[in-house]
Amino acid sequence: MEYGIVRHDWKHAEVKALFEMPFNDLLFYAASVHRKNFKQNEVQISTLLSIKTGACPEDCKYCPQSGHYKTDLERERLMEVEKVVNQAKLAKEKGATRFCMGAAWSDPKDRDMPYIEKMVKEVSALGLETCMTLGKLDNEKAHALRNAGLDYYNHNLDTSPEYYEQIITTRTYADRLNTIDHVRDAGMKVCSGGIVGMGEQAADRYGLLMQLANLPKQPESVPINMLVKVAGTPLEDVEDLDHFEFIRTIAVARIMMPESYVRLSAGRTAMNEQMQSMCFFAGANSIFYGDKLLTTENPEADADMNLLKKLGMKPETREDYSDEAYEASLNSAIADKATSELFYEAK
Ligand code: SF4
Repeated sequence: MEYGIVRHDWKHAEVKALFEMPFNDLLFYAASVHRKNFKQNEVQISTLLSIKTGACPEDCKYCPQSGHYKTDLERERLMEVEKVVNQAKLAKEKGATRFCMGAAWSDPKDRDMPYIEKMVKEVSALGLETCMTLGKLDNEKAHALRNAGLDYYNHNLDTSPEYYEQIITTRTYADRLNTIDHVRDAGMKVCSGGIVGMGEQAADRYGLLMQLANLPKQPESVPINMLVKVAGTPLEDVEDLDHFEFIRTIAVARIMMPESYVRLSAGRTAMNEQMQSMCFFAGANSIFYGDKLLTTENPEADADMNLLKKLGMKPETREDYSDEAYEASLNSAIADKATSELFYEAK
């Protein structure tokens, strides 16, 4: 079978056929695609900081940051630029190559833009790749962010177009696709994926991956999240997704988007080391590092580093980030059991 080709014409029946392959055949296929396009034992590491937390006007049913639901989440105002830059420095010292900043907004307002642009410039000046997720973007704001030096913009499609209205009613699927268009038009890289385990049907998982793969240009980064059920959100009692189905979703994403980074994102705390390892074998090659993934738990960084070491894997390096620097950061992360200094409450 020919593999590893970027295509934008995926059909439902083909995606279904991939999902229904014998498990080991699917993993072998996905691993072959991964090896053809990437160094198989490297994982890209990103750190995520919530720069403005909670009170979001959108009603995404999975999200504790939505102002529509009553959760235990503490709201935080937009973080000062200097604090963000300090956290970015810390993340770089610990081996992150990309720093993602997330704000719980419907969209960034004009008054916020000068701060946001300053943040991008200063984090970028540290030699980190920058990524932001701020909600809907118009063309003008997308260009302003690009001009400030933003490398990536995250905007997830979340689920299939068919299931979407069960999850969000305050913003349309078309709005999301428009934002992705503006990001592309401005010359930024796209980070876009979705969430599984939200009570969707298998066909919705096929639909999500088809939407992503059939975009005019596939996203450079594809986060695949497993729903984290948060008390107070409408999805708190939804049925768990079978873990094998999650691994299949990773594998099919890898096959359909052979040159994209497929990221294990939210929900990683519910996965043991063996399951995460299977996801890496299935072609996941990016993770968030840290004990805060926006507002949900994430395995602590030293546990991540220990797992990579056990698997003979290592973080992908940027050109300006040498193996020696990586070794030093790896050793310090493993030795440093008091990891709390690494991470931050979004204050
Ligand atoms: S997912 Fe984003 S847009 Fe939706 S409620 Fe949460 S913070 Fe707001």
